Amino acid sequence: MPADVRSQACAYARNGRVAVVSASPAEDAGRRAGHVIAYVAGQSGTYQVTLGRRGWSCTCGDAGSCPHAAAVQLVTGHDGLARKPGESR
Ligand SMILES: [Zn+2]
Repeated sequence: MPADVRSQACAYARNGRVAVVSASPAEDAGRRAGHVIAYVAGQSGTYQVTLGRRGWSCTCGDAGSCPHAAAVQLVTGHDGLARKPGESR
């Protein structure tokens, strides 16, 4: 992922811009396939980020490289865009 997306994600998480409505622990991912609903207060609006059976999605339309999903992944402890390769918890 581009470095600016990672830094944006970290900024959202650090500044409390992420509101998690519902989340299963990352450890439950195998058992319950993972489930997250969260809102991120972005620069031009609030985006809804969800993790469901088909993976991450974001109302900005590009969860594959957007900082909103990455920020939610940081906050909820899920593996995702913002995690460094090889990083351990
Ligand atoms: Zn987004």
